[in-house]
Amino acid sequence: MYYGNIKNCDIANGEGVRVSLFVSGCTNHCAHCFQPETWNFDYGQPFTPETEAQIIKLLSPSYIAGLSLLGGEPFEPANQEALLPFLRRVREAYPGKTIWCYSGFTLDELRTEGSYPRRETTDDMLALLDVLVDGRFMEEYKDLALRFRGSRNQRLIDLNATRRAGQVVCLPDRRTNLS
Ligand code: SF4
Repeated sequence: MYYGNIKNCDIANGEGVRVSLFVSGCTNHCAHCFQPETWNFDYGQPFTPETEAQIIKLLSPSYIAGLSLLGGEPFEPANQEALLPFLRRVREAYPGKTIWCYSGFTLDELRTEGSYPRRETTDDMLALLDVLVDGRFMEEYKDLALRFRGSRNQRLIDLNATRRAGQVVCLPDRRTNLS
């Protein structure tokens, strides 16, 4: 896996001050994607054990609320393989911090047997997340007033509450979701 960027003090992609990892590779190709250079699976730098160690260290300060994964597309099958063991490490090292993940795939797509992104790693990866921001960016639903997402079709899914309830539960938001 390759990655394009690491932010060590991000307040735009999840609650609190976060470390954000932007992985490379995305087949969603949303119209008006704000970073099409990340569609390339070889964009940026290789994600190595040293990169993992760097992020683990960046997560250590008490003011860091957690890790956010963005893309590109973290749930591209090739990226799931690299991210699953890394997320296990993060969860083990920092059980009190949260993990958010942005995906152009919807939760339904990720859960549907036979769908393009679904692999044997998918459920395990979802189980390690606290919040999934799901759905492709859609220009017609773009709204700059939204927190933590670009278009109204995207959902801020509280995965812990979703697992407890057995149905999709979203984080409270000023805006109504379309789905
Ligand atoms: S999922 Fe994200 S990175 Fe991929 S095309 Fe859509 S907006 Fe761009």
